[in-house]
Amino acid sequence: MKNYRKELHFKTSTRRAYLNITPQVESAIAESGIREGLVLVNAMNITASVFINDNESGLHRDFETWLEGLAPEKPYDRYHHNGYEDNADAHLKRTIMGREVVCAITNGRLDFGTWEQIFYGEFDGKRDKRVLVKIIGE
Ligand code: ZN
Repeated sequence: MKNYRKELHFKTSTRRAYLNITPQVESAIAESGIREGLVLVNAMNITASVFINDNESGLHRDFETWLEGLAPEKPYDRYHHNGYEDNADAHLKRTIMGREVVCAITNGRLDFGTWEQIFYGEFDGKRDKRVLVKIIGE
């Protein structure tokens, strides 16, 4: 069995952002040379998510509205976690949206449904963040 590891790096210009990282994951699969296996993609920071959904801008605005309803960024003093930091909302948003995805690789490609795409969800941006891509297979 072969294995391959790669880190993706992000520094968004906004506090929150949704980035389609499917092309970067496909590139990692191509670099790995693995034709049949699994790819794990996980956020390495606890205020960011990796998830699969539709690449549709209206839906991304809906995520933003929904998450702000559940865990509004402000007022900062509504959260016990905030004091030294102001990112309690980002921890909560990440928990809802998830840490990672695991995807099948078949014939060297992501074995996806028609509309599935992989997204990086940033909830406390403007600083360096990492995503791990780990591929195993043959
Ligand atoms: Zn924090």
